[in-house]
Amino acid sequence: MPVDVLALGAHADDIELTCGGTLIALKERGHSFGIVDLTRGEMGTRGTAETRAREAKRAAEILGAAFRDTLDFGDGGLRVDRENELALIELIRRERPRLILAPYPEDRHPDHRRAGELVTDAAFYAGLRKIETESPAHRPQQTIYFSTAYIHAPTFVVDVTAAMDRRFEAIRAYKSQFHDPASAEPKTLLSQESFLKAIEGRARHFGFLIGAEFGEGFVSKRPPRIDDPVSAFEGFEPGF
Ligand SMILES: [Zn+2]
Repeated sequence: MPVDVLALGAHADDIELTCGGTLIALKERGHSFGIVDLTRGEMGTRGTAETRAREAKRAAEILGAAFRDTLDFGDGGLRVDRENELALIELIRRERPRLILAPYPEDRHPDHRRAGELVTDAAFYAGLRKIETESPAHRPQQTIYFSTAYIHAPTFVVDVTAAMDRRFEAIRAYKSQFHDPASAEPKTLLSQESFLKAIEGRARHFGFLIGAEFGEGFVSKRPPRIDDPVSAFEGFEPGF
């Protein structure tokens, strides 16, 4: 069964922290989606690859994903090579998504940058018939990008107000990663209480831009079609 949307991140929790609300909102509109984490997260300061796998599975259930796959491209040194590119090409051909969500290929974390480049290239190559893998050629309509550490001016913003409670429930499924006063594990940037507040703050800011309580911003190399620019800006703070 093909999915409408495939969301790919470098590490489990990247998707929940950046575009989980959009996935929930897309599902509400009848679009199916799958999640692929390119690494097992084995280099994370807190938790182990095993605990993270359990947390990721639970988070995917909360979001409503059709499936979640974990690849092993190497955490803390994600490998961009032909073998991994071909594995991604076959995965994209097998799932036949119309839309791909990927990390913006410029970021503080090199794994995010590499994942963004690898996915962008694989989505294009997946359409070339003469690159042979098990499944027939398929090229998604578009790859769109979510920002992780570095923020990029969004090409468009999705209203995720109705999805925010569930999105945070999915984020909290990663108990080993985020703020837990009872945890004896080393403190990290992500485990500070302020981190989740910043994630919420970012969603509030993107939402403010479109006159919604919460939003998620995306960069696209071509703009989406807007049929009615008048109604497209209704409900916004006037005069920006
Ligand atoms: Zn990450």
